[in-house]
Amino acid sequence: MIRLENISKTFNTKDADVHAVRDVTLEIQDGEIFGIIGFSGAGKSTLVRCINLLERPTKGRVFVNGAELTSLNEKELRNERKKIGMIFQHFNLMSQRTVYQNIAYPLKGSKLSKEEQEQKILSLLELIDLKDKKDAYPSQLSGGQKQRVAIARALANDPKVLLCDEATSALDPQTTKSILKLLKSINEKTGITIVLITHEMAVVKDICDKVAVMENGCVVEEGPILEVFSHPKAKITKNFIATTSSISHVYELVEEHSPVVDIQKGQRLVKLNYDSVSTSKALISEVSRNFHVDTNIVFGNVEIIQGSPLGDLVVIFSGKHEDIDQAIAYLEKYEVGVEVMKQ
Ligand code: ADP
Repeated sequence: MIRLENISKTFNTKDADVHAVRDVTLEIQDGEIFGIIGFSGAGKSTLVRCINLLERPTKGRVFVNGAELTSLNEKELRNERKKIGMIFQHFNLMSQRTVYQNIAYPLKGSKLSKEEQEQKILSLLELIDLKDKKDAYPSQLSGGQKQRVAIARALANDPKVLLCDEATSALDPQTTKSILKLLKSINEKTGITIVLITHEMAVVKDICDKVAVMENGCVVEEGPILEVFSHPKAKITKNFIATTSSISHVYELVEEHSPVVDIQKGQRLVKLNYDSVSTSKALISEVSRNFHVDTNIVFGNVEIIQGSPLGDLVVIFSGKHEDIDQAIAYLEKYEVGVEVMKQ
């Protein structure tokens, strides 16, 4: 288990003190994949670097696998750090060394015999599916392959925890998916705890069990991802959902749960009731075309268009009554002004 207790980190710069992390308390259970999301500058990287004490917190205590890292001397800390792997956005491979040598590097000084080390490296190469690239140099690899090598290197000492700092941010969506799949399968096989920082909703949604949302150095909300994203409490979470995800991601996430819409109090709502899905779909595309609206939120057979000149929100209802009732109840909770137009 990882426990961060009242962690604060202040950087004293020439111009001012930067309070990068402010009084964060967080528990991450063994074997969890835990996401930390937030916009750039929220303090995510600094917080995660406090877990392995790459940054020493200004205040607070850090516990990993039962050891209080904040109370250790440098030598003891070096030992504990071996149980915490880390990967980065730009891979940080050694360019003058081959894939094999990069993965072998952390095993220097390990208690394993030469043969055992070789065996270990070969099994890691197999895990990342890059056996045939073992003699290649990083410059001869794609971004995804480089990150695979970085993952293997981070796992060389069999760590209990893997920290991933924007590990997929430099990769295209397809490669991102394959790296996430690899991380998930490693988590399932070994039970390793993964802490994953990202500003991308899709990354969190794809593999995380839990998520903490950061803003201005603080964790503003946390919990199981479905809970956090289907009932976001903090405004920043709602903004995050609205600005960083495609609507279909939100929809997939909340399909079985209450709908999420970033609705402001006092907005004017126009409801159009139609009987059939196809009529409402046709109307939606017409409204979208004429008014250049591109945001549709769909739940059940209810579609909501935000930003249309017809109203701040246009809701087109069709289909099952319970969907409609659920939608109305949800919208009314936000005291949205309602105008009803019937077919
Ligand atoms: P995020 O990972 O969410 O983008 P960071 O943890 O990198 O956020 O940064 C949080 C804040 O701390 C930012 O204002 C950043 O400029 C500042 N910061 C981070 N590292 C340092 C440093 N070494 N010196 C001074 N300020 C820093």
